[in-house]
Amino acid sequence: MVSNSFQISILDSRRGAYLHDPDIEREILGTSGRVQLLRVDSAEEVLCELSDADAIISWHHIALPRHILANLTRCRGIVRASVGYDNIDIAFATEVGIPVCNVPDYGTEEVADHTMALILALVRKLRSVDQHCRQGGWDWHSAGSIRRLRGTKLGIIGFGRIGSAVARRALPFGLDVAFYDPYVPSGIDEAHGVTRCEKLWELLVRSQILTLHVPLSNETHKMLGRSELAELPSDSILVNTSRGDVIDQNALLEIMEEGRIGQVGLDVLEGEPIVPEALRSSDRVLLTAHSAFYSDASLEELRKKAASAALRLLLGQPERNIVNGVSSRDFGHTEVGGNL
Ligand code: NAD
Repeated sequence: MVSNSFQISILDSRRGAYLHDPDIEREILGTSGRVQLLRVDSAEEVLCELSDADAIISWHHIALPRHILANLTRCRGIVRASVGYDNIDIAFATEVGIPVCNVPDYGTEEVADHTMALILALVRKLRSVDQHCRQGGWDWHSAGSIRRLRGTKLGIIGFGRIGSAVARRALPFGLDVAFYDPYVPSGIDEAHGVTRCEKLWELLVRSQILTLHVPLSNETHKMLGRSELAELPSDSILVNTSRGDVIDQNALLEIMEEGRIGQVGLDVLEGEPIVPEALRSSDRVLLTAHSAFYSDASLEELRKKAASAALRLLLGQPERNIVNGVSSRDFGHTEVGGNL
């Protein structure tokens, strides 16, 4: 039986907070524990509170690096309320035996819908046409040349949940879909009726529209640098709803300046929430504020799933979404904190 002396700390950001009242979490955790909402700019501010926590629900990009994790002497698990968990030092959490899980299945449809919305808005040049109309114009050709969607080649990097959901949406529009993902099994291309590229460059050279759906990892960090971006057709459209750091943003700005990429749709930025002036002022750029995941329903689903996962970790019940292979923390002989 879990005692109600357990403390569950929810770590959220002051800026762009996701939670205003942890009512949903309190209801799910019931008498299992005391819920504490900590709004911070960095985890250092609440080190004492975190070191008393039996479970942590991590929102936003608040970093949980090694020196913070080393102080989590009571922690039975961290739930990252998100698909991506790149804000947590996973290797160190594993070393000290803290289970970390994510919530991979809350906003797949929203991100895929948002990606399609960016693609459609960029292809149809909605930003420019809207601006033209607001300035008093009514010229059907104000945005210049517009390509027909049917037959346009769409490239998807990362063919997991979201990447394949984008393909599912793109196919009825008549887009010619291909992907690069060395980790999905053979035959996935046939199952989805799309083309598989074995090499990244093969996908890049064919993609009139390119969209990214990879997690941020050492391997994907800046996986699109200057030389990769230069492979794209000169009037291509690039969309990123995964993580800002998978693209070398400076290289992207340079290449755009040279006129080698047509238009860009970015939901995520390197160094967000700071938006570089070059992106803000460009009429070839469509920006959204890391909002691809969001609908009222997906946020509620995410909160419920994150709180339920925290409860399972506290109860020692099996958790399907552990990302570091640690199923429960053994406090028997583990000394953490000062000895780490
Ligand atoms: P997923 O794990 O289902 O799919 C990721 C795919 O990327 C996997 O199939 C994997 O094999 C592939 N991959 C990994 N490394 C690769 C590489 N080097 N080259 C090519 N493919 C590679 O994850 P998902 O649910 O589809 O989510 C993808 C990412 O989207 C998340 O990691 C997260 O960062 C991001 N995301 C963003 C938002 C948002 O609001 N913008 C919301 C949810 C998720």
